[in-house]
Amino acid sequence: MVAVKSVERPTMECETEHFLMAQRQLDEIALEMGLAPELHERLRYPKRALIVTVPVRMDDGTVKTFTGYRVHHDTTLGPAKGGLRYHPEVNLGEVSCLAMLMTWKCALMGLPYGGAKGGIRVEPWKLSQGELERLTRRYTSEIINLLGPDKDIPAPDMYTNEQTMAWIMDTYSINVGHTVPSVVTGKPVSIGGSYGRHEATGRGVAFCVRRAVEHCGIKTKNPTVVVQGFGNVGAITAKLLHQTDYKIIAVSDVHGGIYNPDGIDIPRLNAYVTEMGKVEGFTGSKPISNSDMLELECDVLVPAALGGQITKANADRLRCKIVVEGANGPTSPEADIILHQRGITVVPDILANAGGVTVSYFEWVQGLMHLFWTEDEVNSRLEQIMGRACDQVFELSAKSGLRPRMAALRIGVSKLAEAKKLRGLYP
Ligand code: GLU
Repeated sequence: MVAVKSVERPTMECETEHFLMAQRQLDEIALEMGLAPELHERLRYPKRALIVTVPVRMDDGTVKTFTGYRVHHDTTLGPAKGGLRYHPEVNLGEVSCLAMLMTWKCALMGLPYGGAKGGIRVEPWKLSQGELERLTRRYTSEIINLLGPDKDIPAPDMYTNEQTMAWIMDTYSINVGHTVPSVVTGKPVSIGGSYGRHEATGRGVAFCVRRAVEHCGIKTKNPTVVVQGFGNVGAITAKLLHQTDYKIIAVSDVHGGIYNPDGIDIPRLNAYVTEMGKVEGFTGSKPISNSDMLELECDVLVPAALGGQITKANADRLRCKIVVEGANGPTSPEADIILHQRGITVVPDILANAGGVTVSYFEWVQGLMHLFWTEDEVNSRLEQIMGRACDQVFELSAKSGLRPRMAALRIGVSKLAEAKKLRGLYP
């Protein structure tokens, strides 16, 4: 990995292993593009980070206290934008890392936003709806000074959804005294959400899969796909690809995976999951472990679950031709290099899963204009933006020999560097 000699390294509380991974990516591209050291150093850390204590009255009458975070990595291009996740592994380093990725993602897609992320360290599956609502509302009120349609706009991420956004929007609105739909995106359509937002991340991933397959010259009639994770992103990616000649041969969720070399009937699987709550046991499929699934021979592997799934421990054993990152940070920097050397194309998270934040942007714009678009309009605008970003990344990668991740980063970081230079330093 490239060492940075020109930049001193003060230690910050967010510098966990996870965060250092994001920093190392930035260091590598900063060195490659000759980024000014002052700018590089500034971008290696979040602009601001808030840690809050969130007390919640549980259904049994006791009070439990959770830890919550909201981090703004950068706000040069506009309000801070990014999701909110509920997960037991959430910590300041992870949230800061993901906030940094949001900065690059928004800049790459040409959205007028900075990068943010939030999270609460909690096992959300152990909480009732009432407990989740009280947790969300108290967290919102603890971070309320950061929030606002011109300041910071949360959206769903792991284990948060439209309902979570509705509670945040309501809590914020009650506190300021009037209804402010544009303080969140990814909210239900009936309270100002956008058509197409629910499917947007998966739609963008499926779009990138098709673009990458074309780009890599894969001519198979039914390219095979393995999807790790069957949440909002994985399930919708599988559904949309299944509708267009792709053969989904394996999928998994937290409980386990299933494999069928002849292709899984995704609409029937969706009905099964709605009933059973998991993919395991689906008719006609064999069970498969998470690690075996990642190593199946296929055209496209879509990691759409947790981060850190493809590492130097398994990168040598992957037998796909393309990886399209539905999740944030599923591939470690070392694994990214190994895959590149092995001729496997990796479409990086900041491009592949950017459909979500792109339609979040549409939702925000529609809310501010009070003028709403049809689903077709949303989807065709999404394809335009995703298509342009894919072309830019593939072109730069081909021209420069950079790995697609580094090409994507370079485009994002360059846009930000130019904006920062023009705005100058205050005071
Ligand atoms: N959580 C999603 C992401 O990581 C969406 C963020 C947003 O829509 O603001 O890109």
